[in-house]
Amino acid sequence: MTRFKIPTISTDLTKRMEGHTFRVIKGTFLLLSILLIVWIGKLIVFDSNTISVNAYNPRLAKLEEGYIRGSILDADGNVLAYTQMNEAGEKTRVYPYGKVFAHVTGYSGKTKTGLELAMNTELLSASSWLDTLRSAVRDTPVQGCDVVTTLQAGLQEKAYALLGDYSGAVVVSEPSTGKILALVSTPAFDPNTVFSQWEEVSQDESSPLFPRATQGKYAPGSTFKIITSLALYRTDSAWQDYRYTCEGETVLGNTTLPCFDHTVHGEESIGDAFANSCNTFYANLGLHIGAKSLRSCADSLLFNSNIEFVLPIARSSFPLSEDDTVEMVGETSIGQGKTMVSPFHMNLITNAIANEGMVYEPYMVDRVVTKEGQQISKNLPKLYGALLEPQEAAYLEELMAGVIERGTATSLQNSYCEVYGKTGTAQVGEGEEAHSWFTGYTKTNGSVDIAITVVVEHGAESKRAVPLTKEILDYYYSR
Ligand SMILES: [Zn+2]
Repeated sequence: MTRFKIPTISTDLTKRMEGHTFRVIKGTFLLLSILLIVWIGKLIVFDSNTISVNAYNPRLAKLEEGYIRGSILDADGNVLAYTQMNEAGEKTRVYPYGKVFAHVTGYSGKTKTGLELAMNTELLSASSWLDTLRSAVRDTPVQGCDVVTTLQAGLQEKAYALLGDYSGAVVVSEPSTGKILALVSTPAFDPNTVFSQWEEVSQDESSPLFPRATQGKYAPGSTFKIITSLALYRTDSAWQDYRYTCEGETVLGNTTLPCFDHTVHGEESIGDAFANSCNTFYANLGLHIGAKSLRSCADSLLFNSNIEFVLPIARSSFPLSEDDTVEMVGETSIGQGKTMVSPFHMNLITNAIANEGMVYEPYMVDRVVTKEGQQISKNLPKLYGALLEPQEAAYLEELMAGVIERGTATSLQNSYCEVYGKTGTAQVGEGEEAHSWFTGYTKTNGSVDIAITVVVEHGAESKRAVPLTKEILDYYYSR
C-alpha cells in the first residue's frame, strides 16, 4: 500500500513544486516585462535623437511604423505637410502645396530631406510618456508632434508663381528677429510624387531637386559692390573724397572691362557709382583698396564661413588673395571672378545692413506643439552678433537708398514703404544670358519690415529680379 502512497505524496509534492515553478516563471516574466518597458522607454526617450537624425537607418523605418508623423505648418497654421491614414492603417504623406514648399519641407520616405529630415525627431515624438503607453496598450500608432514654421504660405506662393519658368531663388526674412518668411527655389519637384517619379525627377537637367535658395552658389555680380563699398569705408578715411571718371570702359592688365552697354558715367563719387552700378569705378576702386582688404571685408561678412540654419547652407567662397592678378582683383570688385555666394547668405548680409549691423540667427522653425496644441519647445530670436558697425550700416543704407532714388531700381519707388537695395547682373559664360540679382530691405515709419533677395537665372536682359521684387512688395504690403 505504501507503494501507492508515494505517488500521492509525490503528486502533492509535484503540485507544490508546480506552484513554486509557476511563481518563479511569473516572477521572471514580470521582471523581464519591466526590463523591456524600461528598455523601450530608454529607446524612445533617450535614443530617439540618434536613431531619428540618421534617416537612412533601417531601424528608423521600423520605429516609424508605430507613429503617425506630425504635421508641418506655416506661421498661420496652414498645413504644409501631414500624414493621412486610411482604414487599413496605411499612411500617406501629403503636401497640400505641391511644389511650392518642396525644398522647405523636403520629402519623407525611404530617404528624407528638408524639414522632414531636420525635424524628424520632433515629428516622431509622442507628446508624453502616457501617450506612448496608451498607444502601446491599445496597439495604435503614437501621434507625433507638429512643427510650426515662421513661413508665410501666401508670400511663398506669390514668390513661387512669380519665378514661373525661370530657375532661381527668393529669400524673404525679418531682420529684427531672423525669421525666414519665404524660402523659394525653382524649378521644384512635387514631394507628393517624388518617389514614384524618382527616375525622371533625379535625371531632370534643370535639377528640380536642388534647393537653390540655400545650396545654390552664384557669382554675386554687382550685389558684391556692397562689400567693395564697405571695404572703401573701412580702409580709406577719406572715402567721401574718392572720385573716378568713368569713360564707359577700363583696361585691366590684358582685358577691357566695359560698363553696362558701354555707358559713360563720367566723374562719380561712391554714391553715384553705387546707384549707377558703374563697373569701371568699382574695378579701379578694388585696385585702390587691394586684395587683402577686400578679403578681410568679405571674411567679416561670413564668406568662407559656415552659416548655421535648420537646413544646410552652402558655404560662400571668396578665394581672392594678394597673389591674384590685376584683372582678377578688378573683376572680383564687381562681383565676377571666383566669388560665389548663396542667395541665403546674401540675404543675411542684407539683414545686417537693415538692422544697424546686428544680425539675428536666421530661423524657420518657430515651435513644436502636440496635436492638442500644447507647446513642447519654442525658438526665440537669438542675436548672432554685429557684422557691421552702426555707422557702416548707415553708410551702406545711404548707398542703397540711392539705387532706388536715382539708380538702377527706381521702379521700386512706391507710396507704401521705403526701399533700399542693390541690383546685380552676374555674367555666367560666353553666349549665355546673365543672372539677375536684387537684394534689399524695406522700412515703414523708420522701422525695418523685411529683407528680400532674388536671383533669376538667365534673367538679366529684363533685369527680372527687380520687377519680381516689386510684385512681392506689392503683395506683402497689400495683404
Ligand atoms: Zn561706368
